[in-house]
Amino acid sequence: MAAVTATSVDAPIRIIVLGATGSVGKSLADLIERNPDQFDVVALVANQNAAALASMARSLGAKSAVLADAGRLNELRDLLQGTGIEASAGEAAVLETVEREAELVVGAIVGAAGLKPTMAAIKPGRRIALANKECLVCAGDLFMAKIRETGAELLPVDSEHNAIFQVFENDQVDQIEKVILTASGGPFRTFSKLEMATVTPEQALKHPNWDMGARITIDSATMMNKGFEVIEAFHLFPVRHDQLDVLVHPQSAVHGLVQYKDGSLLAQLGSPDMRTPISHCLAFPRRMEVPVKRLNLAELGTLTFEAPDLDRFPALRLALESLKSAGAAPVALNAADEIAVESFLSGKIGFQAIPAAIETILEALDGEGRLGASTSIADVLALDLETRQKTAEWVNTG
Ligand code: NDP
Repeated sequence: MAAVTATSVDAPIRIIVLGATGSVGKSLADLIERNPDQFDVVALVANQNAAALASMARSLGAKSAVLADAGRLNELRDLLQGTGIEASAGEAAVLETVEREAELVVGAIVGAAGLKPTMAAIKPGRRIALANKECLVCAGDLFMAKIRETGAELLPVDSEHNAIFQVFENDQVDQIEKVILTASGGPFRTFSKLEMATVTPEQALKHPNWDMGARITIDSATMMNKGFEVIEAFHLFPVRHDQLDVLVHPQSAVHGLVQYKDGSLLAQLGSPDMRTPISHCLAFPRRMEVPVKRLNLAELGTLTFEAPDLDRFPALRLALESLKSAGAAPVALNAADEIAVESFLSGKIGFQAIPAAIETILEALDGEGRLGASTSIADVLALDLETRQKTAEWVNTG
C-alpha cells in the first residue's frame, strides 16, 4: 500500500461517497453527522434510490447528489428542490463527479458496477477508502498499479483487511509468516450439506453478527465472501497466496491476525460494527471517537476458532483456486456469483446451486481459454459481461 500521510484536523476533509445509500454508506453517514465540522461533503453517489439519497444529502449538507440511473433524475430534482443541492444522474455524471476536488473518496458501491467509478477516482494526493471488494477481486493488478502510479493512498474499509492493516508492519514484510482472516462462518456454519439443501433466502439473509447489504450477506452464508477477501488481501498486502489463511471464529471479535517469524501473533479485536474500520480510514493516522459497543472480553468469556470446511463450503474452495490460477478467474468468479446470488434471492435456484453454477461456468470459460490475465478494464468488463450471460443462461435452462 502507498505511504500514508497525516490528515489535517483543522481543515474539513472534502469527501465524495460512492454507494452512499448502502449499508457501508449509512454507517459512514452516521460518523459524518457526529463530526460535522470535520467533513465537507462534495458529493453523494447512489444507483437508483432517489429518496434515500436526497434525504442523506440534506442531512449531511452535501453539495451534490448523483444517481447512476439516468431515469431517476427528475425524481431526484423534485426531492432536492429549494435546497441548493445540485442533482445529476447517469454514468457520465458519476464519472464527472469523481473528478471534483476532494481529499477523500469512499468506494462503497456494491458489485462490479463499482469498478469504473472507483478506478476513475484514483488521483494523486487523494485518499481512497475502499469497501468495494470487486475492484480488487476483478482488477487487483490494474487497481494497485494505478494506486502506485498516482501515489494515491489506499486504506481498506473491509473489517478484516482494516484489522490486518492495523497490525501489519510494512517495514518488516520479510519477518511476516502468515496473514489470517477470520470468518464468522455465517448462519449455516454448523449445517450439514443435507440441511443446506433446503435453506431459504430469509434464513441466509440472517447473518449472526454483522448487519450488511444483501449480496455480501449471502456471500457470507456461502463463505464466498471470505474467498473474495483472501483475493483482496493478496492485492492489498505484499504476501504470497500461500501465506494467506482463513480461520472460522463465530464470535467475530478478532477480525484479522498477522503472524511473525518469532511466533508472535498480532490481532485487532473489536465489536462487529463497521463504524470502527470506517472511522479508522476517515481519521488515519489518528482515531475518532466512535460510539460502538465496547468489546467486553470478560462478558464474552470464550473465543473459539476452527478451520474452514471446504467440502461444505465449496464457494471458498473455488475462490482460493481462482486466486492460485493467477489469471482472470476471479473476474468470472465474481460475475457468476453476482448472478447466482441474485437468482437465489429471487427464488430461481437453491442455495447449493450458487457454488454449483459458479464452478460449471468457470470450467466452461477455462475450457474455452477465456481465463488468461486481463490487461485492461475493458478486458475485465468484457469477461464480466460474458460470464453474467453464461450464468443467466445456466440458471434459466438448469
Ligand atoms: P449495499 O447493497 O447495502 O449498498 C450498495 C450501494 O451501492 C448503494 O448505495 C447502491 O445504491 C449503490 N450502487 C449500486 N450500484 C450502483 C451503481 N451502478 N452506481 C452507483 N452506485 C451504485 O452494499 P454494502 O454497503 O453492503 O456493500 C458495499 C460494498 O462494500 C460491497 O462491495 C461489499 O462487499 C463491501 N463491504 C460491505 C460491508 C458491509 O458491512 N456492508 C463490509 C465490507 C465490505 P442504491 O441504494 O441506489 O441501490
